[in-house]
Amino acid sequence: MTNQATLVIIKPDGLKKSLTGNILSRLSETKLKIIGAKIVSVSEKLAQQHYRHLKDKPFYPELIKYITGRLHGENRVMALIYYGKDAIAKVRQISGATNPEEADPVSVRGAYGRILTTGLYENVVHASSDPSEAEREIKLWFNPDEIVSDLYPVKQTSLKNYRKKVWK
Ligand code: UDP
Ligand code: MG
Repeated sequence: MTNQATLVIIKPDGLKKSLTGNILSRLSETKLKIIGAKIVSVSEKLAQQHYRHLKDKPFYPELIKYITGRLHGENRVMALIYYGKDAIAKVRQISGATNPEEADPVSVRGAYGRILTTGLYENVVHASSDPSEAEREIKLWFNPDEIVSDLYPVKQTSLKNYRKKVWK
């Protein structure tokens, strides 16, 4: 298996429950390399793009509330890119099954996840499930200059009337 990149998101419940350190420790068991990391406040648009393949599911409206932080009053997630041999499977293994009740109890989701009364799986982390999903998600969440590696081809572009916040 060649090197792969995968996107991990520590969801709002993970931040609310102060689990960031625990989750990063668990993921460090993989010996994969972190090549990008940031705290993001998730817009409605980003949430919809991220979960676009689930938009017809009954739990979709709750899922959007969850990832944008509206369920937890905590509009922050941590997004990370892990890189290395068999990265996708290694991260999925430590994350555990989607349903936290069915997840291995020593996995992140098994240890820290729960099912809400609405039926939503509040499962602490997101992890890409295959290489094409990983590429789509990494490009959605990160700009090329936020990653310490040349993961995918880039092009140069000049933007007219480009406005950008800088320190005063
Ligand atoms: N989800 C849920 N109920 C379901 C399936 C999924 O609440 O029956 C939520 C859960 O938070 C999950 C997310 O939707 O992590 C995305 O679902 P997916 O099937 O992609 O599972 P994952 O790849 O996260 O394991
Ligand atoms: Mg998925």
